[in-house]
Amino acid sequence: MSIVVLGSANLDLVYRVQNIPGPGETVLAASRASHPGGKGNNQATAAVRAGAAASFIVSVGQDEAGAMLLDGLESDGVRVSARRVTEPTGTALITVADSGENSIVVDSGANSLLAELTETELGIIEEAGILLMQLEVPVETVGRAAAVAHAAGALVVLNAAPIRELEAELLAAVDLLIVNEHEAFRLLADTGLQATEATVAAELLLELVPAVIITLGAAGALVAERGKSVRTVPAFEVTAVDTTGAGDTFCGALVAALEAQREAGANDLELESAARFASAAAAISVQRAGAVPSIPGRQEIEDFLG
Ligand code: ATP
Repeated sequence: MSIVVLGSANLDLVYRVQNIPGPGETVLAASRASHPGGKGNNQATAAVRAGAAASFIVSVGQDEAGAMLLDGLESDGVRVSARRVTEPTGTALITVADSGENSIVVDSGANSLLAELTETELGIIEEAGILLMQLEVPVETVGRAAAVAHAAGALVVLNAAPIRELEAELLAAVDLLIVNEHEAFRLLADTGLQATEATVAAELLLELVPAVIITLGAAGALVAERGKSVRTVPAFEVTAVDTTGAGDTFCGALVAALEAQREAGANDLELESAARFASAAAAISVQRAGAVPSIPGRQEIEDFLG
């Protein structure tokens, strides 16, 4: 039993700008860099660097970017189950402002061809202890994988980003939902529920799934589980230079911490302590540039926690 991540891999093109351009505005970049990225790629890398064994089901192009992404994953020790398709590898155009805030445009490319799971992919999912997914690949694939993993007894974790409307059937197979505040409100609005406050949103989301984490950037995260009161896991106070991938680092480190609890024989997983470990990993990552390059290793997270 180990972690299986199913999701996207992109080449991130990162432009550093003073301010993120608004509609109709053109700005000059101070610098440009390219890094491995994509939510699936980032989260699989974060889980492995945080000390877990993880497999990653992914689709990339038969191009240089695809080869570069797979090399990076393999050198991190991620067990990769990759499709090499004729579509180009996905790309993300990221602008990062001096404030550390970002804006992102994604071209899914090869990620959009991760449909109709193969026998090999289904076999990997059936063996998962924890299945971690996001929404940068076709939502039908996410739904099918969630149903298979749920039926096989795995813990199904969905980071519902980028947010889109979700079928009740998919949510019924999810054990833990991770969203930021904006995604939480959007998801509730889609199901006819309304919240303007994160704690209320967390409580309402428990009507859809058994456990929820709402991340709140520098304000930390809320952990909500059915039958328990909503708890806050504060963020660590650090100076952010680039928050790209903070949420992904959080998700990957979180499942690594949950898997470690399972391996230690825990019957009931402690979400709050896993979220504290994940917050430390994310706090380290925001102090460095890039998504994958900024993700810390286990030792660094433990040293940070003291
Ligand atoms: P992104 O899409 O940029 O990856 P997100 O919106 O999914 O991010 P956030 O809520 O911004 O996710 O961040 C996830 C977690 O990372 C937070 O709950 C917090 O623990 C940590 N974090 C984010 N920003 C900061 C910050 N400026 N300082 C310290 N910790 C942070």
